[in-house]
Amino acid sequence: MALNVLVVDDSAVMRSIIIKTLRLGGLNLGKILQASNGQEALDILDENWVDLALVDINMPVMTGEEFIEQVRRQRETADLSILVVSTEGSSRRIEAVRRMGAEFLHKPFTPELLRETVVRITGVENEQIDSESIVQRRGYDF
Ligand SMILES: [Mg+2]
Repeated sequence: MALNVLVVDDSAVMRSIIIKTLRLGGLNLGKILQASNGQEALDILDENWVDLALVDINMPVMTGEEFIEQVRRQRETADLSILVVSTEGSSRRIEAVRRMGAEFLHKPFTPELLRETVVRITGVENEQIDSESIVQRRGYDF
């Protein structure tokens, strides 16, 4: 199964870095969709099947926390795998995100750590992963 991924971040540069890091991790990716805030992300979820959302916290219009709340509230999206990727250091906000059933990953992160986290929360099969490319690129960071 190829993962359809939605990357939500108000920084276009950060979205590109996250997508590049996903690719370097060797995951079997399907459609890659992008949104610059939570509201745009909700609109995309209305019209696309997404397996995993990678979500920033601090965004204009609708924050990551507000987005997760909305997603969990709607039956069609309630079970979406969500990974919050942020430089946010506040343990209160990190805890709040985890209570809403999302995993948290600090920026910056390696392709390997991102891959491991994605595999864990989506249950995507390990055999789909090209582990050779991971070993060769170990140490890559941004
Ligand atoms: Mg931001």
